[in-house]
Amino acid sequence: MKVLKFGGTSVATAASIQQVQNIIAQTKAKKLVVVVSALGGVTDMLLKAAKTAADQEITYKDVLKDIEKRHLNIIKDLLPINAQSKVLSKVKSELNVLETLLEGAFYIGEITPKLSDKIVSFGELLSAYIISEYFIEVGHKATFKDSRELLITDNTHGKAIVDFEETGNRCSHYFSKVPAHIVVMPGFIAASKDGNVTTLGRGGSDYTASIVAAAIDAEELQIWTDVSGMYTANPKIVKQAKAISHISYEEAMELSHFGAKVLYPPTIQPVLAKGLPIAIKNTFDPEAPGTIITKKAPEEGRTVRGITNIPAITLLSIEGPGMIGIPGISKRFFEVLSQAEISVVLITQASSEHSICIGIADEDAEKAISQVNKAFAYELAMKKIKPLLIEKELAIIALVGDQMKNHQGLSGRMFSTLGKNNVNIRAIAQGASERNISAVIRKEDVKKALNTLHEAFFEEQIKQLNLFILGVGNVGSKLLGQLKQQKKYLKEHLRLNVRVIGIANSRTMYFEEQGIPLQKWPELLTQGTKTDASQFYNTILELNARNSILVDNTASEEVAFTYKNFLKQSIAVVTCNKIACSSGYEHYRLLKELAKEFEAPFLFETNVGAGLPIIDTLKHLIASGDEIIKIKAVLSGSLNYVFNNFNETTTFHDVVKKAQEEGYTEPDPKIDLSGIDVMRKILILARESGYVMDLEEIVNRSFLPEEALQTKDNKAFFAALKKFENHFQQLVIGAKKEACKLKFVATLDNGKASVGLEHIPEGHDFYSLAGSDNIVLFYTKRYPEQPLIIKGAGAGADVTASGIFADIIRIGTY
Ligand code: ADP
Ligand code: ASP
Ligand code: MG
Repeated sequence: MKVLKFGGTSVATAASIQQVQNIIAQTKAKKLVVVVSALGGVTDMLLKAAKTAADQEITYKDVLKDIEKRHLNIIKDLLPINAQSKVLSKVKSELNVLETLLEGAFYIGEITPKLSDKIVSFGELLSAYIISEYFIEVGHKATFKDSRELLITDNTHGKAIVDFEETGNRCSHYFSKVPAHIVVMPGFIAASKDGNVTTLGRGGSDYTASIVAAAIDAEELQIWTDVSGMYTANPKIVKQAKAISHISYEEAMELSHFGAKVLYPPTIQPVLAKGLPIAIKNTFDPEAPGTIITKKAPEEGRTVRGITNIPAITLLSIEGPGMIGIPGISKRFFEVLSQAEISVVLITQASSEHSICIGIADEDAEKAISQVNKAFAYELAMKKIKPLLIEKELAIIALVGDQMKNHQGLSGRMFSTLGKNNVNIRAIAQGASERNISAVIRKEDVKKALNTLHEAFFEEQIKQLNLFILGVGNVGSKLLGQLKQQKKYLKEHLRLNVRVIGIANSRTMYFEEQGIPLQKWPELLTQGTKTDASQFYNTILELNARNSILVDNTASEEVAFTYKNFLKQSIAVVTCNKIACSSGYEHYRLLKELAKEFEAPFLFETNVGAGLPIIDTLKHLIASGDEIIKIKAVLSGSLNYVFNNFNETTTFHDVVKKAQEEGYTEPDPKIDLSGIDVMRKILILARESGYVMDLEEIVNRSFLPEEALQTKDNKAFFAALKKFENHFQQLVIGAKKEACKLKFVATLDNGKASVGLEHIPEGHDFYSLAGSDNIVLFYTKRYPEQPLIIKGAGAGADVTASGIFADIIRIGTY
């Protein structure tokens, strides 16, 4: 004999019931017991109808109507017309009884646990009856058996305790004689000896099946559901979760106790003693191997078997001076809860005995608070204990595994992984069995926490980075192109899954939680919503994705001053925008400190020399104990271009104009020509070298006449360049006389920074600097005479984008 249980989602529609029939037809066994749940969602509807009726709201009738419609439609879809009337009239008459019960609750304005069980039992009674009739119609030798005649319990309504002896006797007696090949039974419901309807707790149909399987010594128990087995984490929340092929009873029990809803926790107990295997299978993918649960399972070298969560948890903390050294307070505390039939999901107690903190289900919170307050009224009045501390909207996440006890460092890894992702931990408990480590966190963080932990413990090989990109102009669009092109390479070679979840320009912004398809981003962005900075920030927080990175490709001051908000949420920032690092020192320092405190990298390699690894090299020199003595650098691609093209045959004005038109300067060329841009760059290098410095401290030997410097707009600026053409010609002539070239050089020497035009003689490292190249010479303790040189293209969208790309990779491989 085999026992097969089909859950609510497996019997939610006529099509899925037909699928169930296909599975039954292919199952080879002498006899089959088929245990079914209520049609998916019907138990919730029944409870809602009961509550609405008890609240004396007439809308309970609407809920009842919906329940009726669900059942009648399924009968019409499943059965041929000639077979419908008998089943329809039986179901209608049952629904009439249900209506009378609800009416009773409505008039009395109350619902007892006993009545609630009776009302809710209709879900399973109706589904099992309809399915049995359908099986008969299809040609199976099937029968319906009311579980209330076989499963006997006490009178604890809502979660009754099974009388195994009586149930066992009744089951073996019935099944040894029943002639039918298939017996269809309602799950979840039972009866007390005195004939009251009872239920086995939410999700209890699994338990029904296991009780019957154990009672009749079945060969196997199969639990058919909507996922392909017991997974390493809830597959509806963690897409990367994998089905566990084989697991031990203990581990399965622990996983289900800590929230793996796929199996109702008490289900294991009855079959465990008999050593009967449980298979968990997917009704909608019957070929998938699923999970097999037995006494012993191969260890597969994994210490952590699964990661689970229990939603809707409230923490209650009791503390106060009166608790120290007075025995019995914790005993009384737990007694009160147990008398109120509240189950405690998690306990932590500080070693000082000064406080006890427990986790309970949200729905028990009100009751627990009022009972505890009543029981400790005296101590509260005397201020021996403080008023109960209550925290709601929490959840428990747990790592579960038999072998965890033999390994150190798991909890450290768990908590540091959560910390890096800004998941705040409210309480921690380690099961006495050492089979689990659990933490209480905010409800909103569950998805992120499960996914990060899953990544850390099961997907070590692949790390997911989630990017939010601001600015999709020259640099941003190149970056998106590079990300698209390298996606496969990053996965295969660096084990990085880089996804772009949000993009924005100054007009619109667009988000896609599973990653924006990069071949379509331009058209998707136009379909986005109007750009709004706070909305952008809030959406990132709401998405709460792990390893989030803000990428700023703008030159916006407003954006630069929002970095701190991101870093505080442990969101990394990568930027080519120089403003944040070259504004006031205090702001720069704050960002650096936040990055450290919240473990959120803040990288800006492209602020100096575009894609050249200048800042990174500087960082490594300093980290390895070297000291910067001097930096000499040509850091402006724009000025290089200008002075490489300026000679006696051209005018300065025309060269600058051309540079501007070809995109070699900022839209406002004065930022480059005045030296401000280079000042910012050397300032950043000075700060990264360890100097506390502000822009005003840098000496700027500007080659622009004062009048040009004072201009207010581009037009006036260009007019001034024309006016002072002679001045610029003199600069070239002066250099030529000495057989030198003009270069705009930035210097950091002994903590003093300056920028200005210099005459560079032939043979100097700067002399033959072509196009928009940059060059940096680091003179350090280790490179005192021959400097460490970095040279190459220092401007351009492509190289800047690749510099940003490199920063993103640095975060991924960090
Ligand atoms: P049924 O109606 O078949 O009894 P349930 O909803 O009770 O189905 O249980 C199946 C659900 O359990 C899955 O859809 C999944 O969302 C959830 N679940 C939670 N944790 C796990 C896990 N570790 N493995 C598989 N499923 C899980
Ligand atoms: N129908 C019941 C519930 O929804 C029992 C079950 O599905 O296992 O809780
Ligand atoms: Mg279930």
